[in-house]
Amino acid sequence: MVVLDHVDKWFGDLHVLKDVDLRIGRGEVVVVIGPSGSGKSTLCRAINRLEPIDKGTITLDGKPLPEEGKELAALRAEVGMVFQSFNLFAHKTILENVTLGPIKVRGEKKDVAEKRARELLDRVGVGHQAEKYPAQLSGGQQQRVAIARALAMEPKVMLFDEPTSALDPEMISEVLDVMVDLAKRGMTMVVVTHEMGFARTAGDRVVFMADGAIVEEAAPEQFFTNPQSDRAKDFLGKIL
Ligand code: ADP
Ligand code: MG
Repeated sequence: MVVLDHVDKWFGDLHVLKDVDLRIGRGEVVVVIGPSGSGKSTLCRAINRLEPIDKGTITLDGKPLPEEGKELAALRAEVGMVFQSFNLFAHKTILENVTLGPIKVRGEKKDVAEKRARELLDRVGVGHQAEKYPAQLSGGQQQRVAIARALAMEPKVMLFDEPTSALDPEMISEVLDVMVDLAKRGMTMVVVTHEMGFARTAGDRVVFMADGAIVEEAAPEQFFTNPQSDRAKDFLGKIL
């Protein structure tokens, strides 16, 4: 579904992605782990072309990522992204937040978009909040709306960049539960998170990054119980 082939990226002199090769199969859940500054966010942003790359290629469903115009807008719809900060539109209702993309980008009729948005909001457990504004919801609820908003575009892949790290501890599981459900439904997912429970329950593979490079790839259980590289051992020693 997503193939990164010899991808390099620099920010000025800083080499932030170093010869990254990664293949993500349809329906696969890849958990990306690594120290702060290792390039995890840049990797996600490269996959939906929020960041251009300098070398190598990235393909989605066999096609190179488009660089501009209508094709780029379509790509952003096909690759859903959920960030650490929920980024909902503050002056729009929850329902409007979810219908905006389908109406504006995909040209859906309002009633069709609303019906689907309500189904998605129900699915993530905030259906009864549809007429409220983001500030009236908890962080966990807002993040679940952000997931529903991305799903409304019927993406082929979902990218999650530390989706629970800005949440109060008691709200983390309600967001992870939605992500586990999504994984079970067969969504292709790239998830940057240090939530080991999620990685073990839903992850097919862990990719460990350090200093812009993929240092280790393994099944979650294997990675957490028997990391091979010194970098991974050192990192797990700090977070466990
Ligand atoms: P991570 O998500 O693993 O913490 P990032 O992908 O955010 O890492 O960042 C990788 C490196 O690139 C870091 O050293 C960071 O400071 C740097 N970086 C990220 N974004 C930019 C940018 N827009 N301009 C310059 N440097 C950046
Ligand atoms: Mg990051």
